[in-house]
Amino acid sequence: MERVFKMSESAQTACKEIIDHYGLPKQLDIVVEECSELTKAICKAKRRFEPDKVCITTDMLEEIVDVQIMLMQLIQVMSPLEYDYLHGQIDYKLKRQTERIRQDEGGHIW
Ligand SMILES: [Mg+2]
Repeated sequence: MERVFKMSESAQTACKEIIDHYGLPKQLDIVVEECSELTKAICKAKRRFEPDKVCITTDMLEEIVDVQIMLMQLIQVMSPLEYDYLHGQIDYKLKRQTERIRQDEGGHIW
């Protein structure tokens, strides 16, 4: 199953309209608020469940959607150079982390 988040053309258009209407400074405030709400939902879920039984709750899903929508708005106002940098950094950081996992699995060699 493919798990890549895809953004429809209508979603991209809506995000552009929203951030153009409210402006980047205001929307950055909302990004902070939404990230805070997601943090709170995660903390609540972790408190509610046994450590090995924590799952993605409905509250978390709602806040993930809110955060995702805000990030999608930021993407809409990025320059092509910033967008390319974003994708380069995603590839770089994922590769770095998976290499760390392989190192942990194979033990450190020094
Ligand atoms: Mg929210």
